[in-house]
Amino acid sequence: MTDTLRLHLPDEAATLRLGGALAAALQPGTRIHLSGDLGAGKTTFARGVLRALGHQGAVKSPTYTLVEPYNFSRLDLHHFDFYRFGATSEWDDAGFREILDSASVCLVEWPERAGTTLPPADLRVELTPCDGGRDVTLTAQSPRGEKMLARIKASWP
Ligand code: ADP
Ligand code: MG
Repeated sequence: MTDTLRLHLPDEAATLRLGGALAAALQPGTRIHLSGDLGAGKTTFARGVLRALGHQGAVKSPTYTLVEPYNFSRLDLHHFDFYRFGATSEWDDAGFREILDSASVCLVEWPERAGTTLPPADLRVELTPCDGGRDVTLTAQSPRGEKMLARIKASWP
């Protein structure tokens, strides 16, 4: 069961808009993995999600803290960045297991660096630089991810 959607995002505004389209399809407990090199646009995408959910002000990149929590009326969300994640032993100490098993939405940058302890994503978002903008591939990895993808497809012009 794999369903994918490939799009070109010509500018930052398009990345933010796609984040907004995904936000509308989120449910409690949804897990999103964001992949791509440094500067690919992962945090920008996360900002689009957070703004659409009603977050005002800056979105911190949780590069050093590894995680930043957000509370919305509709759902809770944790924004992870595992770029500097060192050892799996840090994992339980930091309480990540509890967060990842909870009903919080998890938006995860650098999931590759968290190793196999990370639960699988409902949807993977991969960003690659192309022609001054970004190519993005969305891949559904669960029935919930497939439903989200269908919704995003229907809402994208
Ligand atoms: P990452 O979190 O993947 O390291 P960032 O989200 O911090 O990357 O983005 C790096 C830069 O990419 C930002 O300056 C942002 O404005 C730019 N950017 C994001 N999306 C696009 C796009 N679709 N086209 C061009 N630039 C983009
Ligand atoms: Mg980032």
